[in-house]
Amino acid sequence: MLTCAADGPNYGVAPDLGAALRNFKLPDKLGFGPVAAPIMFSAEWANGAWGRGELVPYGPIQILPGARALQYAELVFEGLKAYKVGQANPSLFRPRENWQRLARSAQRLSMPTVPESLFFEAIEAMVGACHRIIPREPGRSLYLRPFLFGTEAGYLLRNSTTFRFMVIANPVEIYSSGPMRVAIERDDVRAAVGGVGAAKTAANYAASLRASTAAVARGLTVALWLDAREQRFIQELSGMNLFAVIGGELHTPALDGAILPGITRDSVITLGRHLGFVVHERSMALDELLAQIVSGECTEVFACGTAAILSPIGLLSDRDRREYVPVRIDAVAAQLREALLAIQERRAPDPFGWTREVMPISL
Ligand SMILES: *Cc1c(COP(=O)(O)O)cnc(C)c1O
Repeated sequence: MLTCAADGPNYGVAPDLGAALRNFKLPDKLGFGPVAAPIMFSAEWANGAWGRGELVPYGPIQILPGARALQYAELVFEGLKAYKVGQANPSLFRPRENWQRLARSAQRLSMPTVPESLFFEAIEAMVGACHRIIPREPGRSLYLRPFLFGTEAGYLLRNSTTFRFMVIANPVEIYSSGPMRVAIERDDVRAAVGGVGAAKTAANYAASLRASTAAVARGLTVALWLDAREQRFIQELSGMNLFAVIGGELHTPALDGAILPGITRDSVITLGRHLGFVVHERSMALDELLAQIVSGECTEVFACGTAAILSPIGLLSDRDRREYVPVRIDAVAAQLREALLAIQERRAPDPFGWTREVMPISL
């Protein structure tokens, strides 16, 4: 039975969630994803409207095997973090950008959008209720994964008429295993202009899995994707955007409709300029960058995304097994990461108004 106090929240709350949260022990080792918060948020869309959301225990969900999310990858998602390092109340980093991107992703797949009020109700319920299990050590946080998927069964080639919006959460540490070893992918293609590359949707990950798994089998970390037309220009890594330091200036591929517009990417551009870096968004030919790494003109390469924040790249490995090693690893990247993390963890002033405090909720 779900309760909803008259002066309480707009969403239902299943019984015993308070006990589940109080009994939850944060393990020492968090990793990125294996530890799940004991609660989740769920709301359903049917007959053209969103129903009331609810907080329920974290656990398996029921879904028809023929659901379009499973059969046709009708699913879009987001990823953002709540921080509570040295603060009484948790805070989110640029959450409105995540809501807007979820809406753009849903529009690309012609799914109904999640209204801003429902999105914030869900993530603030999760963060507020989970406030006691948000890690407080620097670099640790509560990762939120909002996702929206089609639940109607059937093979007709059209959108589902029923949907579900959920938010799950994971206490995490920074996703990192030292400098990344990047596999240049010259065969498979992740996303083409006109496709769904700029939407945060499962299909892009499906396209990238073979290269990702092959990279790991070769002792590398992640695949680097090139443009679909000519396989000449750098796009991004499978789940992170890429920057190079060339002649002391920052260069990143311009958004071309196939690259995922990362919120960390946007933050690095803004923060980099604020710290005095010249930042270029342009089309970047891979062979030119490799030559600049060899000549030493390109001193450093790094990747960025919510999970790893900024992660140094230690090596790029080509299909012919030639290896390109930038002369510096984690110099500019470390400076930008520390500056960004200090804003995210509210240890430094936030001149851009990027953080948003969330009030704790006791269930
Ligand atoms: C989520 C994602 C990113 C990074 O985006 P952030 O908003 O910075 O977390 C980059 N590339 C892909 C393919 C992604 O799915």
